[in-house]
Amino acid sequence: MSQSLLYEGKAKKVYQTPNKKGQLILAYKNDATAFNGQKKALFEGKGRLNNEISSRIFQILHQKGIETHFIEQLNETEQLVHQTKIIPMEVVIRNIAAGSITKRLGIEERTIFSQPLIELFYKEDSLGDPLMNDEHALFLCNVTSSELREIKAKALEINTQLIEIFAAIGITLVDFKMEFGRLASGDIVLADEISPDTCRLWDVTTHEKLDKDVFRQGTGNLIEVYEEIRQRLEAIS
Ligand code: UDP
Repeated sequence: MSQSLLYEGKAKKVYQTPNKKGQLILAYKNDATAFNGQKKALFEGKGRLNNEISSRIFQILHQKGIETHFIEQLNETEQLVHQTKIIPMEVVIRNIAAGSITKRLGIEERTIFSQPLIELFYKEDSLGDPLMNDEHALFLCNVTSSELREIKAKALEINTQLIEIFAAIGITLVDFKMEFGRLASGDIVLADEISPDTCRLWDVTTHEKLDKDVFRQGTGNLIEVYEEIRQRLEAIS
């Protein structure tokens, strides 16, 4: 398929497809970055694993009635998606305390929240993606207050579905990050990726970390744990 590079991010390249208007190709890279790009490494096979995992998760979410930008997996490292205008907001849902919230608010890792917490971060690399409140989001992200309510409701519904999907394969969904995009129709849908790069996933019984924290913390083999997630997802019909 003839394609031209539209944008290159830390983990994916985005190509335009001249013969398919309104659609884009996402090419997953082998690069891993952490701490706002300060720690970097290449992992052979990571792009393929995240493409396969994210594609599978989007397919399962579709079966459960969640709308996303995903159309189809094209090959090992690429997927076809609907073009959206990405809302510059990272929506994080936390079911259990880990990562930045433990440091920012002094909450002990593994603390279980009685209700999922929603956090909004302004998606702006030059500022290090700062935490923002709803009013900042309304000012910075070109969304109305009813759209912000809609995004939060979608995020909570996606969390409910993902908790169930991962529980079925012996995994606890600790937290994860979502990005939403606007389709040409104006509808807001889940975009970007859902993968071990963007989720914290702990084995239900051993509590082993099966996500990018093995790279952030230098505690394990990233490819082995991503492969474990891919294989467990194969069991879901
Ligand atoms: N996350 C992400 N991209 C980011 C920041 C966070 O995908 O730029 C994900 C991260 O993998 C975790 C969740 O969002 O699943 C919450 O991350 P946190 O705020 O704890 O930040 P971190 O520990 O990565 O600094």
